[in-house]
Amino acid sequence: IGLRSIVRDVDRQKKYEENLIYLAYHDALTGLKNRKAFYEQLQDAIYQAKRYGTEIALIYIDIDKFKRVNDTLGHEVGDVLLLKIRDRLQGSLRKSDFVSRIGGDEFVVLVDNPHHIHPAAIAEKIVNSLSEPYEIEGNVVDYISSSIGISVFPTDAVDMDGLVKKADQAMYIAKEKRNRYFSYSDINK
Ligand code: GH3
Ligand code: MG
Repeated sequence: IGLRSIVRDVDRQKKYEENLIYLAYHDALTGLKNRKAFYEQLQDAIYQAKRYGTEIALIYIDIDKFKRVNDTLGHEVGDVLLLKIRDRLQGSLRKSDFVSRIGGDEFVVLVDNPHHIHPAAIAEKIVNSLSEPYEIEGNVVDYISSSIGISVFPTDAVDMDGLVKKADQAMYIAKEKRNRYFSYSDINK
């Protein structure tokens, strides 16, 4: 009996530790990977891409007019909207693409090998999907859209911070008009 209870304690401790690790790498609301997980994944992806001479696309998404949902329908409806946004994002991507929620209404997608599927095509799919009306608890929300910036390793930057910064800059250009994507490589065109 003594041994059995030790085994049970070790089991419990293990589950507790696994849960802590899960919480450290996931966003509590959506269950998507969080900012910390994203940076670790990006670091790893850059390492692999350098080694094999491949490319990575970083797709940086900020939802348009998200505050209006909170302000008019309440924070809880805003939370449900975030879950619907997550589902649409996942529906626009392949299982192998990495998607994370890195801020309140900010999401990032990492695409390995963007040669096969052009990142602009993925961004367009996401923009179209996220701008369709949402039905949430009897309310129709038809003004939500997204602004997306794209940066590519190694064309736009060769390090983590540079890639994120350039995708963010491109996102801000998209944000000037909203409901669109913009590639950093088009910035001087
Ligand atoms: P813009 O079109 O310029 O992007 O403005 P926005 O209204 O989307 O607002 P912004 O991107 O500046 O800020 C995002 C807002 O999302 C801020 C905050 O009120 C709200 N928010 C952040 N996290 C959560 C959350 O977990 N749940 C809910 N309901 N709202 C959140
Ligand atoms: Mg926003």
